[in-house]
Amino acid sequence: MATEIGMPRFGAKQLAQWLYEKNVSSIDEMTNISKAVRERLKERYEVGVHEPIERMTSVDGTEKYLFPTLSGHFIETVYIPDGERGTLCVSTQVGCKMNCLFCQTGKQGFQGNLETADILSQVSWAHREKGLTNLVFMGQGEPFDNLDNVMKALEILTADYGFAWSPKRITVSSVGLKKNLRRYLEESQCHLAISLHSPIHEQRLQLMPAERQFAIAEVVEMLKEYDFSHQRRLSFEYIVFKGVNDTEVHAKELLKLLRGLDCRVNLIRFHQIPNVDLQGTDDASMMAFRDYLTKHGLFTTVRASRGEDVFAACGLLSTKVENERPHPQPLDPSNSPGRGEKSLTPNPSPKGEGSSYTGY
Ligand code: SF4
Repeated sequence: MATEIGMPRFGAKQLAQWLYEKNVSSIDEMTNISKAVRERLKERYEVGVHEPIERMTSVDGTEKYLFPTLSGHFIETVYIPDGERGTLCVSTQVGCKMNCLFCQTGKQGFQGNLETADILSQVSWAHREKGLTNLVFMGQGEPFDNLDNVMKALEILTADYGFAWSPKRITVSSVGLKKNLRRYLEESQCHLAISLHSPIHEQRLQLMPAERQFAIAEVVEMLKEYDFSHQRRLSFEYIVFKGVNDTEVHAKELLKLLRGLDCRVNLIRFHQIPNVDLQGTDDASMMAFRDYLTKHGLFTTVRASRGEDVFAACGLLSTKVENERPHPQPLDPSNSPGRGEKSLTPNPSPKGEGSSYTGY
């Protein structure tokens, strides 16, 4: 692409440096590229970083952003500050097919996969704005149901030519789509979090329909083939529901299931959603559950709940309302007031030449 528009061979490297390392917001900022080439670039491409069209701030400092996507939909992304750390909870799909009982995104249904550019746009914008230290792919969608685009995003985030982040700063979460999970483990060094929520097949099936196709026992068996004793971390997410999965029986089954795996368990508070007959467990039961697991050798933490007042907490993300509003055209940042020319991706209508990508 670089040579096509009259750049030297090392032009691709220059572009990557401006886009990823320097994370610029416009082609005009690429000052070591000649003005004539910049003009040609602007005719065909955009930087491709979308600004959020809405921001909400929680009393605890958590921020939630509503981003437009290239397909004309909307997604939510959450920034969680914590001392020196700034974590971004990234979305990978518009809605989700997995339909987990306790999740608002699941209730939204599925409206489409995010492009790699959509995924990276969330990171680029938030990193420029906030200075991020960590990424968790735990926003809207099941990352392994959009694995090609997620893997491309992870490559650009971790490659020397890209953002050059350590994979140890990135965690991808999944319900456990086995085939894609294997590819992720083989091709990426990032951390893995599996949404577990119940060690008992029949009950997990009720909470998470994905259990029918991807039984947690089989997922765990597969994970045992890999080594998590060094840099890469394996964790299991466990939302604790009152009287449902917080008993000693569950703790024992959990210990049995995870025996022999180098991993940790993160206990998560349930945030009530409408029309779902589940309640979060109380603090005492949560701590007793944690202590039982810890006492029996399973490293277990209780994850702090963040951003509940702005519906940014775990399980509360939804863009159902925004996506159901009529939107006449797929998003074209070049003619969308307020979104300017910040679009690291494709110029959606590059003068009849079809869609092209500058970087993502
Ligand atoms: S919990 Fe995750 S996988 Fe399940 S419906 Fe929500 S977004 Fe999808």
